[in-house]
Amino acid sequence: MLRAEAHINLHALRHNVAAIALRTNSEILAVVKANAYGHGLVPVAKTAVEAGAHWLGVALLEEAVALRAAGITAPIIAWLTPPGSDFAQAIELGIDLSVPSLDILREINSAASGLKQSARIHLEIDTGMHRGGALDEWSELIAEVKCASVQVIGAWSHFARADEPESAYTDLQIKNFEARISELKGAGISPEFLHLANSAGALIHSGSHKDIVRLGIAMYGLSPDVLHMGSGESLGLKPVMSLHSILHSVKKVPAGAPVGYGGRGVTSSETYLGIIPLGYSDGIPRNATSAVGVTINGEKFPIIGRVSMDQFVVDLGPKSKAKAGEKVTLFGEGSYSIDDWAAACGTINYEIVTRIAARVPRISV
Ligand SMILES: *Cc1c(COP(=O)(O)O)cnc(C)c1O
Repeated sequence: MLRAEAHINLHALRHNVAAIALRTNSEILAVVKANAYGHGLVPVAKTAVEAGAHWLGVALLEEAVALRAAGITAPIIAWLTPPGSDFAQAIELGIDLSVPSLDILREINSAASGLKQSARIHLEIDTGMHRGGALDEWSELIAEVKCASVQVIGAWSHFARADEPESAYTDLQIKNFEARISELKGAGISPEFLHLANSAGALIHSGSHKDIVRLGIAMYGLSPDVLHMGSGESLGLKPVMSLHSILHSVKKVPAGAPVGYGGRGVTSSETYLGIIPLGYSDGIPRNATSAVGVTINGEKFPIIGRVSMDQFVVDLGPKSKAKAGEKVTLFGEGSYSIDDWAAACGTINYEIVTRIAARVPRISV
């Protein structure tokens, strides 16, 4: 056992891909951006493809390039490639590019013309999130696409509120999408792949599935929104990441002892404290409260005091027999959940897993 280990359960990942495949007739795109939500880019991508994902999706071009360098030949879409990106490299590696604007279309077109090749693109439409995608430029974008060295493989958009089952906004976005697609088809462009759905769309808006569903958080076994959609477990998913460490040291302290920077945690009685050698530089949020902590042999011990850069402290209680070197679990089976950590830190499960730092080794189990 190392100081810290993020265990990546690839069987659970397979289970989650298969569970979603049962709920849709669309192809699955496994979203592996941000180091596969912190789970490890290449092993996750390979496993997802083996489990039935047809496509891979990333934000950055360098993420797509890393997948190709690992020998992965599945179609890949990179959807956040700002001006100045190495579009020629993307085209040569057969990486599909998202086109949200005229500026980016023009850069891709000039790279493609230089190579005497055509680029594979997916037109991104803003249907109401008002983040990426063409809004007022749409008609002009269609006109320029017709003259560019590109193959329009797909057209897509992204939901702002698909995790809210009661919200009518998702239906409005689907309607807007369909209107924009009609316009595109009217101009003689009929992409083979239309896609809109994220995990929440895949799980609770069957009308959004179109040709591809882009599966992110649910593939990692987590719910897109615990409050509105229930836990990952209640959705039939299995968490992929668990986080483990070892008890660095144990010591007895008196009642009323302030713990850590600022003395924010104070012992209520004479007790044993356990030092855990993981901190905010490892991705443990500094604002984690005593609503979470670690388990040792299935028993929970809460955080006391602030999380430091490399370590935090747990209250083991006055009768503890825990010993330095014992294995502890921060989140995982029999311990706190990733959702518990998210709630205790005022954030979402996406952020808890994604922020686990590179210095925590990922170990496939
Ligand atoms: C991250 C992302 C997804 C996946 O979203 P989840 O909520 O994790 O399923 C899908 N599509 C795009 C464009 C994304 O950026």
